[in-house]
Amino acid sequence: MPVGGFLEANVKLSDYETLLEGIGRVVYRLEPDSGRCEYVQGGAASSDPVIGLPSDKVHPEDRERALAQITAAAAEHPGQRASLVVHYRLDDGLGGFRHCHDTLILDADAQGEPREVYGVALDVSEQVRAVAVLNEKEAHFQAAMNAAQVGIFLLQDGRFKYVNPYLIHLFGHSEAAFLNGMALVDLVVAEHQEITREASAMQQAGEPGRPYEITMIRQDGTSLPALIFGSPATYEGRPAMIGTLLDISRQKDAERRARELADFDPLTGLPNRRLLSDRFSLLLSVVERDESELALIFLDLDHFKRVNDSLGHSIGDELLRAVADRLNSVVRDVDTLARLGGDEFIIALPGIHAQAAAEVARRLLEVCASPFSVAGHDLIVTPSLGISLYPDDGRDFESLLRNADAAMYKAKDAGRNTYRFYSREMNVATLKHLLMESGLRRGLGAREFVLHYQPLVHVETGGIIGVEALVRWQNPELGLVSPDQFIHVAEDMGLINPIGEWVLREACRQLRVWQDAGLPTLMVAVNVSPVQFRQPGFVETVADALAASGLNPHFLELELTERTVMEDAEQTLKTLSALNEMGVELAVDDFGTGYSSLAYLKRFPVGKLKIDRSFIRNLEVDMDDRAITSTILSMGRGLRLEVLAEGVETKAQYQILRGMGCELVQGYHFSQPLPPEQFVEFLEKYRTTLKD
Ligand code: C2E
Ligand code: MG
Ligand code: MG
Repeated sequence: MPVGGFLEANVKLSDYETLLEGIGRVVYRLEPDSGRCEYVQGGAASSDPVIGLPSDKVHPEDRERALAQITAAAAEHPGQRASLVVHYRLDDGLGGFRHCHDTLILDADAQGEPREVYGVALDVSEQVRAVAVLNEKEAHFQAAMNAAQVGIFLLQDGRFKYVNPYLIHLFGHSEAAFLNGMALVDLVVAEHQEITREASAMQQAGEPGRPYEITMIRQDGTSLPALIFGSPATYEGRPAMIGTLLDISRQKDAERRARELADFDPLTGLPNRRLLSDRFSLLLSVVERDESELALIFLDLDHFKRVNDSLGHSIGDELLRAVADRLNSVVRDVDTLARLGGDEFIIALPGIHAQAAAEVARRLLEVCASPFSVAGHDLIVTPSLGISLYPDDGRDFESLLRNADAAMYKAKDAGRNTYRFYSREMNVATLKHLLMESGLRRGLGAREFVLHYQPLVHVETGGIIGVEALVRWQNPELGLVSPDQFIHVAEDMGLINPIGEWVLREACRQLRVWQDAGLPTLMVAVNVSPVQFRQPGFVETVADALAASGLNPHFLELELTERTVMEDAEQTLKTLSALNEMGVELAVDDFGTGYSSLAYLKRFPVGKLKIDRSFIRNLEVDMDDRAITSTILSMGRGLRLEVLAEGVETKAQYQILRGMGCELVQGYHFSQPLPPEQFVEFLEKYRTTLKD
C-alpha cells in the first residue's frame, strides 16, 4: 500500500468539505469569436472575488492553455454541447496565486468551432493549499517511516498490509514477501504464536493493546526477541491494527549479563547461593524421579577471621580463591560447588549416599590439609564440614542447607577440621563404617574374628546333625559386630578372601577337634561370599583347609546364596563340580529370595536347599508364605534335595514345618548361634533332654 493511502485512511477529510462550502463562485459567459466576456452571476460586478476566465488576473500562460483546451473540446464535439474542467491561476496581487477550478459548458458549431461558452468558476485556493500541506505531511511521514529505528507495520486479519523499511531490513524478507499474504505469526516461534494471534485480533477489534514480548525468527533463521505494541486502526475502511516492533536483543543480552553477575560470586567465580538454589530444584526433581539420594555439604573454614584480621583482606581473598580451587578439584562434574559468602561454601552431590558423602568430606579435608602459599605466606586453614542427606534430613534446599549448617556446628564442637552428619544415626553408622575399614585389616592380624555355631536339627529324630558356623567380629571399640554389618565392607575392601579363608580353616579345625574329643558326629556348614566363590583359587583354598584340619570332606558343607549360584551358571557348575568331586557338600542358602532356574538346580551338584527365614517368620498367619514353603518342600523332594527351614523361632512354626514333612530345621527355637564352649554345653544338655 502506498504510504499516502495509509495516511489518507487516517486523516478526516470532512474539513475539505467545509472548505468548499463558503467558497467564492462566479458564473460567466464567453464568446470565443468576439472574445467578449460577461459575468452572469458574481464576478467583477459584485463583491465576489474577481475570478473566472474573464478576469484580467488570470495568469497569461494559463489563459492560453484554457483557451486551447476549449478549442480542442469543441473540435472533438462538432455541432454538440461539451463540458470540460480547466484549472488556472490568478494573480492575487500579493506575489502569490489564487487557484481557480472552472467547469465549462460549450456549444460547438458544425465545424467544431466553439460558439458559446459558459463557465462556473470556483476559487479553490484553500483546497489546493490543503492538498499541498497534505502532500508535505505525507512526505514527512514517509521520511519518518524510512528513518524510524523501530519496526512499524499495519496488519489486517493478522496479515501485513504495510511494513516500514526498518522492518524489512530487520527481518531480511522483501517488502513483496511481507505484503503477499504473510502473517505476523509466520515470523513468531511456535510457543508465542497464540499470544500474538490473540493480541492482534483484540487490537483489530478496537481494544488498545499492551506491549508484549515474543521471540521471532528472521529470514536467516536466527531468533530475535521483540517487544510488540499494537493499537486499533482502519485500513481501506475496515478495522485493522497498527503496531510497532522493538528489537530488544540488546536488553536481553544485558539482562543475561546482569543475571550472570547475580548468579556468580565475583571473588571465586563459583555459583552463588541463588544459582545453587535454582540448580538444586532441578537436581531434586531428577533425584526424586530416579529415587536416588543427594547429599549437601556445608563447609566453613576454621578461624578464617584470624587471617583477615592479621594479614588483611586482600590476602584473605586470595586464600579463599586458593581454597575454592582445591575444593573444586574434589567435586565431580555433576556436583555443584558454591560460595555462600565469607568463608562458607556449599557442595551439592547428587546420586550419593551417606558413605560416599563421608568419603567426599574426607577428601575435602585432605586437600585442605597442606599449607596454602599466599603472597609469600604459608597459611594453614582447616575446614569444618556438615552433611545433610536427602530425603532423610530434608526434602528441599532450605531445610537441607539449614541442617547441613547445624551439622557443621557439630563438627566445630567436635574440635574442627572434621565432618559430621546431621543425623545422629548417620554419625554413628559412618563412625562404625570407618572403624570397620581401619579395624578389619587389623582385626584379621589381631585374631579378632570368632565363630559361633548354631545347631541344625533333624525333625524326625530331634537329633542335631550339624552346625552352621557364623562369623562375628570382636572389635575392641565396637563390641561384637554381626556379619551383616561387616561382610559387605570386607567384600568392598577385598578383605573377604582372607576372612573367608580363616573361617573355613577355623570351622574345619573346630569340627575336627570336636570329633577327636568324641562328640557326636556333626557336619559343619560354612557360608561362602560370592566374591570368595568366584576367586580363582577357591577350590584349592577349600582343599587346603580340609587338609590342614584333617577333616573328612563329607563333613563340610558350603552354603552359597541363590544369587551366587545362578550368576554365571557355567563357571558355577565347574567350581561346584570340582568341590563335589572332592566330597564336599553344597547347599543353596536364603532359598526363595532370588530366582532359581530349576534346570540349573537339577544340573548343579547341590544337595540341600535352605528356605530363607523370611518365609518362616509368618508361617502361622501368612497363607502365602505357607504355600511357598510347602512348594519348596515338595520341589526339593521332587529334585531329591534335602530342605532345611531357617529361622524357626516358635514351637508352632516347628510343628507346621513338621506337618509339611520338612526334614531339617534351624533357629532360635532350638538355639542361638553359640561360642564353641557354650555350644558343647548346649549339646550335652540337649542330648539329656532328648533322652528324657
Ligand atoms: P545366613 O547364612 O542365612 O545365617 C543365618 C542367620 O540367621 C544368622 O545370622 C543367624 O544368627 C540367624 N538366625 C538363626 N536362627 C534365627 C532365628 O530363629 N531367628 C532369627 N531372626 N535369626 C536367626 P548372622 O549370624 O547374623 O549371619 C547373618 C548372615 O551373615 C548369614 O546369613 C550369612 O549370610 C552371613 N555370614 C555369616 N557368617 C559368614 C561367613 O563366615 N562368611 C560369609 N561370607 N558370610 C557369613
Ligand atoms: Mg548360611
Ligand atoms: Mg540363610
